[in-house]
Amino acid sequence: MPLRVGIVGLGKIARDQHLPAIAASPDLELAAIATRAADPAAKYSSIAELLAGEPDLDAVALCQPPQARFDAARTAIAAGKHVFLEKPPGTTLGEVAALAALADAQGVTLFASWHSRYASGVEAARSWLAGKTISAVSIEWKEDVRHWHPGQDWIWQPGGFGVFDPGINALSIATAILPDFFLLDGTMLFPANRAAPIAADLRFRLVEGAPVRAVFDWRQTGPQTWDITVETGDGTLTLGHGGNTLAIDGAAVTLPAEAEYPNLYRRFVELVRAGESDVDVRPLRHVADAFLACTHERGEAFD
Ligand code: NAP
Repeated sequence: MPLRVGIVGLGKIARDQHLPAIAASPDLELAAIATRAADPAAKYSSIAELLAGEPDLDAVALCQPPQARFDAARTAIAAGKHVFLEKPPGTTLGEVAALAALADAQGVTLFASWHSRYASGVEAARSWLAGKTISAVSIEWKEDVRHWHPGQDWIWQPGGFGVFDPGINALSIATAILPDFFLLDGTMLFPANRAAPIAADLRFRLVEGAPVRAVFDWRQTGPQTWDITVETGDGTLTLGHGGNTLAIDGAAVTLPAEAEYPNLYRRFVELVRAGESDVDVRPLRHVADAFLACTHERGEAFD
């Protein structure tokens, strides 16, 4: 039987990725959508209505901004539903730990998804790097916020993450392909009129000692950059385009076709069928550490 999934929050990611991925999977069926907007495709305006109106629902995919997800997830878990959380899984580490404990107690699956980990080059990068000696890592995640996040007020508010909304994608890949690392120091730049940073320059180190530098910037116009470069004793690995291209010493590696959300949903179905949860908070912990340990600078206003 396919898993009957309800979508909550009909924004960009729900329309661009969740709806097509669910429609394409024989293991999933879209049960209903809950949205506050007037949309002919949606029967419900809240998760409470969705849960009341669809007693046969198996799971919900929560596609709202992080600030709006905790109560929705708690309500769904209390109703015995499996929960797919968009990234980042919460606004704080504490609320994610609380959800994981609630899901555990209810015996339902909680999936803290990290879509960039399912980019086509990530698994090949992880396997090439395994056991190699790493001497330096450089992460550059630079994009144009006006192009990618027009009108998204939540992203500039507390709990919206600012430039860490894309930056955490880089950290989700880095935590999947590198040995353990931790933050040393860095700077975060906040526009004068905003509560979230527009840029960050972070210095981490691998536990074994190699430096890891991460530069996140939302002011990039022209070509966009989502690259991770890893120097090793056996050559240089470059993971580009958000994890979807891979080169070793400049030679491109052939990769499977891009399928981040189909792969994410495959993982969700696997977790539900196995009766397991997957709640890896390491990317969120690095962001929390940045807010703890970085120097905060104020820059020009962003409108
Ligand atoms: P979005 O376009 O702003 O959509 C978010 C939707 O959530 C809204 O359309 C709204 O839908 C609902 N919502 C509920 N409470 C809200 C609130 N307080 N403020 C604003 N919206 C609220 O955002 P998005 O780009 O889809 O991002 C949503 C989440 O997905 C974020 O955590 C983001 O990091 C993640 N994500 C986004 C992308 C991307 O490319 N955009 C990629 C991967 C992951 P209703 O009106 O239907 O209630």
